[in-house]
Amino acid sequence: MVLRVAQQVDLSAYTGFGVSSRAAHFADITGEEELLQALAYGKQHHLPVFVLGGGTNVLFVRDFPGLILYMNWQGIDWLDEAGLVRTACGENWHSFVINCMTKGFHGLENLALIPGTVGAAPIQNIGAYGVELEQFLVEVRAVDTRTGRVALFDHAACEFAYRDSLFKQGAGRHLIVTHVTLQLSAHWQPNLSYQALRDALSSETPTAEQVFETVCQIRRSKLPDPAITGNAGSFFKNPVISSEKFAALQVDFANIPCFPTDDQDLVKVPAAWLLEQAGWKGRQHGRAAVSAKHALVLVNPGEATGEDIFLLAQEMSSSILQRFGIALQPEVQII
Ligand SMILES: Cc1cc2nc3c(=O)[nH]c(=O)nc-3n(C[C@H](O)[C@H](O)[C@H](O)COP(=O)(O)OP(=O)(O)OC[C@H]3O[C@@H](n4cnc5c(N)ncnc54)[C@H](O)[C@@H]3O)c2cc1C
Repeated sequence: MVLRVAQQVDLSAYTGFGVSSRAAHFADITGEEELLQALAYGKQHHLPVFVLGGGTNVLFVRDFPGLILYMNWQGIDWLDEAGLVRTACGENWHSFVINCMTKGFHGLENLALIPGTVGAAPIQNIGAYGVELEQFLVEVRAVDTRTGRVALFDHAACEFAYRDSLFKQGAGRHLIVTHVTLQLSAHWQPNLSYQALRDALSSETPTAEQVFETVCQIRRSKLPDPAITGNAGSFFKNPVISSEKFAALQVDFANIPCFPTDDQDLVKVPAAWLLEQAGWKGRQHGRAAVSAKHALVLVNPGEATGEDIFLLAQEMSSSILQRFGIALQPEVQII
C-alpha cells in the first residue's frame, strides 16, 4: 500500500464541532504499513503529528501546521467462543457495540451511542451510565511514534482512571492505539447502578436490547447529535474536590450535589450543575453557544470558529472559579 498524503485539508468534516481548520498534511491510515510510512513522512518533513479518530473529543482552535493521521483502520476479530474480541482502531464505537450485542456478547450496552472510534475509547477510558471501558479491557496494541515499534499494554499498564489513562500522560502521548482487545460476556447481567437508567427502564430485569435502547433514548433526549449540531459532548470533566471544601461550599449552596469517589476524602461534583447555577445553560455567546439541553455541552450553531468555542469555554471556567472556587478541567483535547 503506497501512502498518499493530502495537503491543506479542511478538518470541519472530520470533527464533532464541525469548525473550519486546515491541516497542512493529512494521511488516511487503513493499516500498519501506511502508519509506518506516515510516521517516516512526518519525521522526514519535521512535522508535528496528531492522531485523529472520529474527532468527537477534539477542538482545533486554529489551523494545524503538521500531519494528521486519520485512523481509518477497520477489522473485528473474534478470538474465541467466549467473547474475547480484538478490534482495529478505526471501527466506529457504536456500530461495534451493536455488533457485539447482536453476536450475543454483553457488557457494552450502557456505552451505546458514544460517538467516535474504538481506538480512542481507551484514551480517556470512555464511560457512561455506570460503566467504563476499562471493565472489559484486556490489552491495547500500540505503535510508538518515536520508534515505530509495536508494544502491548495489559489492563494494569494502561493506568486507567476517570476519563484518563496512560495514553494521555507523558510518554504515553507518543502511542498510537492500533487495536483494542476486550473480554465480553456470553452471560447477560444488566448494570443498573445508574439511577437515571433504572428510572427509565420499565422492567427490573431488562434484556440487553432494552438497556441498549433505553440508553440510546436517554442520550438522544439529553445530548445534541454532532451530525446535526456541532459539539464534542461534555466539554469539561466533573471536578473532584476535597470533602472539606465540599462541606464549606454546602454552607452557601445547600443543595450542591456530589458523587462519592474511591477516595473517601474526595468527592466528585457535577460540572453541569455548577454551570447551570451560573446561568450558562442555553446561553448564546457570539457565534458559539451552550446547549439548551445540557450546560456541559458547548455547541457550534453553524458559524462558530474554534476560537469562538475556546473563548466561550474560558469564560465559563473563569465564572465557575469565581463563584465556587473550583477550576474546571477540559475533557476535550484542545489543539
Ligand atoms: C454527543 C457526544 C456525547 C459524548 N458522550 C460521551 C460519554 O458519554 N462518555 C465519554 O467518555 N465520552 C463521550 N463523548 C466524547 C467522545 O465521544 C469520546 O471521547 C470518544 O472516545 C472520542 O472518539 P474519537 O474517535 O472521536 O476521538 P477523537 O476526538 O478523534 O480523539 C480524541 C483523543 O484521542 C486521541 N486518539 C484518537 N484515536 C487514537 C488512536 N487510535 N491512538 C491514539 N490516540 C488516539 C486523539 O489524538 C485525541 O487526543 C461524547 C462526545 C459527543 C460528541
